[in-house]
Amino acid sequence: MKVLNLQCAHGHGFEGWFASNEAFETQLAGGLVSCPICADTAITKLLAAPRLNLGSPKPPAETPSVPAAESSPEARWMRAVREVMAKTEDVGERFADEARKMHYGEAEERGIRGQASREEAQTLLDEGIAVFSLPIPPALKETLQ
Ligand SMILES: [Zn+2]
Repeated sequence: MKVLNLQCAHGHGFEGWFASNEAFETQLAGGLVSCPICADTAITKLLAAPRLNLGSPKPPAETPSVPAAESSPEARWMRAVREVMAKTEDVGERFADEARKMHYGEAEERGIRGQASREEAQTLLDEGIAVFSLPIPPALKETLQ
């Protein structure tokens, strides 16, 4: 199983789990890899190894009127994750079961989130079911309890 660091054109970072590098390339070419936050399909693979930043400097924040704390990368990431959480149903440890049911048309197609072990994720991948992993900020986890 390949866990790849991916990013959409809007700068949302997430992990995509794929059966192999080839599976990723094929799904990407077919427009099947989309950002779990904004559904953008312009996905780029980030290099896992650290690299020198030789690119052009980042453009200034798009909303300079917003207080610094609100426009920090962390704050924007929190908002994005909160949005995903609002749009998805938490199925907890039933994640693998529910994902499979939806894949086989036994349950309604919807956005779900939950926990899956690496083994469960691998099984889902083998069955052709896409799995994404989003790092949830600890602060957000607490507010949801
Ligand atoms: Zn995105």
